Amino acid sequence: MQQFNELNLPQPLKQALETMKFETPTPIQAQAIPVALKGGDLVGIAQTGTGKTAAFGIPTIMRLMENPAATALILAPTRELAIQIEGVWRDLTRYMKDMRSAILVGGYSMRPQLQALRQKPRLIIATPGRLIDHLEQRTVNLATVAVLILDEADRMLDMGFAPQLNQIMRHVPKERQTMLFTATWEKETDALAKRYLNQPSRVAVASASKAADTVEQTAVETTVAKKNDTLLDEINRRAGTLLIFTRTKSRTDRVTKFLASYGLSVSRIHGGRSQAQRNAALAGFKSGQIRILVATDIAARGIDVTGIGHVINYDLPNVPEDYVHRIGRTGRAGASGSAVALVTPEERPLWRAITTLLQRGGSNAPKTVAAAAPSGLVRSAPLPQPSRAPQNRPRQYRNPQPQRHQRGEFTRDGRGGGGGGGSSSERKDRPAQSAVTSPRYWR
Ligand code: ADP
Ligand code: MG
Repeated sequence: MQQFNELNLPQPLKQALETMKFETPTPIQAQAIPVALKGGDLVGIAQTGTGKTAAFGIPTIMRLMENPAATALILAPTRELAIQIEGVWRDLTRYMKDMRSAILVGGYSMRPQLQALRQKPRLIIATPGRLIDHLEQRTVNLATVAVLILDEADRMLDMGFAPQLNQIMRHVPKERQTMLFTATWEKETDALAKRYLNQPSRVAVASASKAADTVEQTAVETTVAKKNDTLLDEINRRAGTLLIFTRTKSRTDRVTKFLASYGLSVSRIHGGRSQAQRNAALAGFKSGQIRILVATDIAARGIDVTGIGHVINYDLPNVPEDYVHRIGRTGRAGASGSAVALVTPEERPLWRAITTLLQRGGSNAPKTVAAAAPSGLVRSAPLPQPSRAPQNRPRQYRNPQPQRHQRGEFTRDGRGGGGGGGSSSERKDRPAQSAVTSPRYWR
């Protein structure tokens, strides 16, 4: 399939894709949709940001249109991701009647969820924990589920949801279409597919060990003591939005505080914050009001934010694949971006594992540089000091006029959508995970 119109899509769906400015299918969509439309089970392997949501959303909608008694269930690892999927569902079904969805996620009160369930939704989007709450209270019935989607299956397993998935599977009919989407393929995902899918077709695009060639990668050697200064340096030599990854919630808090003390426009997202706080942080970052977002991997998983200029790995991820997901937030679909990793001597083994993975995947090797010796920049007080000599530029964000630069072929205009979500299962030393961005680039 080269074009959506080759698919003979029903008019309201066609129209929705037009409104969404989806003209050409992304590679995973081009491969997965025709296969899924045949009704068989499917495994889709693709990095974040490749358009997996519509890859399963479009065939699911067609299935539900054909059979008015059928419903669909999408399981996702985090709240933000579930919210984001719901946004795409709404967009795709905007010209249809009776394609209501219900979103069952933790962190929100049960009441609106119960209300949504009473309205006979055609689609339920849920995180495993909250769905089980509903199953136990018998407030949801999955007997009509004809299509089941496991989104970000690798992350669900990493987060320890295997028992919950098992429990949920007992409530969905055996006779169903199951689609599993994942960014990485490991023995755990393979086992999951063997267990719940029936002779699935497998479609894969670009291996998760391959970093986008459009991302300029650098590793900066620093030390634990100098890490914050190195971070400031790296921020100051860049314009545009920045996504900073840290290892834990408390480190996210500390880095945010540190940057805020320098007058930088910064917010943070991790599983320990309330849903309202997370939503606000993400909304500010998406709208461009906030320049820097500090995040744990889990909280950032699956977030679809357009136009991230730079990714800074303040801490390296424990799982090398996560590095590829992280830096995939920038440099999307042909737009250029940059990624910096701050590497302390303690983190060198992790860095070696990452570069080995990149080499295996055939990616360009990152450049390694030593942390800039206290560069011309002298650390200033939080407020600009008017009396300073000009070469001592205050380390402050001077709000460079963002310019829209390049548009990648899969971008479209300023879109909302939620983000990947921490969640109670986010642990202190949990490895980390990714998110998504599309290719609007500011310089
Ligand atoms: P994934 O689930 O693989 O991480 P998403 O489904 O979140 O990816 O899509 C990533 C971004 O690409 C979103 O902003 C989405 O709107 C956009 N997108 C997806 N498919 C297309 C398409 N066919 N044309 C244009 N933009 C697309
Ligand atoms: Mg996704």
